[in-house]
Amino acid sequence: MTRLAVENNAINLGQGFPSENGPDSVLAAACAQIASGNNQYAPARGDATLRAAIAADRAERLGHHLNPATDIIITVGATEAIAATILALIEEGDTVAAFEPFYDSYHAMTALVGAHFAPIPLTFDSTRWALDETALRAALTPTTRLLILNTPHNPTGAVFTRHELETIAHIACEHDLIVLADEVYEMLVYDGAAHTPIATLPGMAERTITLSSAAKRFNVTGWKTGWAMGPAHLINSVWKAKQFLTFAGATPLQPAIAHGLSHERAWETAWAADLQARRDFLTTALTDAGFTPYPTAGGYFILADAGAHTQNAAEFCTGPLVKAGVVGIPVSAFVHPTSPAADRFAPLIRFAICRPWDNLRQAASRLVSARF
Ligand code: PMP
Repeated sequence: MTRLAVENNAINLGQGFPSENGPDSVLAAACAQIASGNNQYAPARGDATLRAAIAADRAERLGHHLNPATDIIITVGATEAIAATILALIEEGDTVAAFEPFYDSYHAMTALVGAHFAPIPLTFDSTRWALDETALRAALTPTTRLLILNTPHNPTGAVFTRHELETIAHIACEHDLIVLADEVYEMLVYDGAAHTPIATLPGMAERTITLSSAAKRFNVTGWKTGWAMGPAHLINSVWKAKQFLTFAGATPLQPAIAHGLSHERAWETAWAADLQARRDFLTTALTDAGFTPYPTAGGYFILADAGAHTQNAAEFCTGPLVKAGVVGIPVSAFVHPTSPAADRFAPLIRFAICRPWDNLRQAASRLVSARF
């Protein structure tokens, strides 16, 4: 879709990346690290200052207590943490379950290890995308080993409530599942909502691997630096898989991210408030253009129902939408090909709110003046 945007000179609200730089002090710290010669292989588990900063940040903000020596490894983006977790814990014939629509790498990695993938459709309960407990229970079989939970959620913008997380935790304990909690959008929650890590709920610390990433915290998606956190026995397994994927991540970036975690909370809070304002702006623009946007409680994206214009968002995105000069991603890209919920998701489009204000204004005027 990004190629299509470039070819058609369209505003790219498809891929989720901010064009604006993160905090100056983080960028300057990375430059200083390179200039001072910190350019050789990082320790295999990652830079010790970064692991200490992650542990301090999680403990202070979320009451999530981790030992930086044993419970955290630095990965090449959250993407490598997802890959290493699935490689480490899942065998051919096992099943990985994930809430649908889902971030595409969960399904791709599961396929690469020859395991089954069980999508669990989220349901829209008239105010928000929500857990469907019946669908969750129905998706679990004796071969299910891993449940992937992403909150704040890409692509729906849902933030799971504490009550939903307690239900999921209860079922995970009942079925002896490991939970992979993808929390890359942990700082981006809107309207005063709270982000609750499932690892902090009773019985969950021992069975949860939590992921996060510098990408979304400091607008450095190109730095590809993330981390996996959890009990030592699980993190050790993930680390062993990671060792033969990349061994170590980019050395000079790691102390710079540690600096950001320790000193740039105010920047992070201001960025989340700015994204909330962009969400409001794009929600109004999409409504004015005849779409029905769903409420977004967190993350980089808005889902909009294009049902007034089309029942097939995939065709609409590569046809009329791009011709109108805007790129969005059909939600079918985040849905299992044989999902029983495929029809329900077929008219939905994901739009990125993390784009610069100029882009959003231009996209809004193109959408409103388009004759779909
Ligand atoms: N998980 C989710 C839900 C994401 O949206 C993304 C990035 N789009 C990632 C993981 C990957 O993060 P990273 O860039 O750190 O690999």
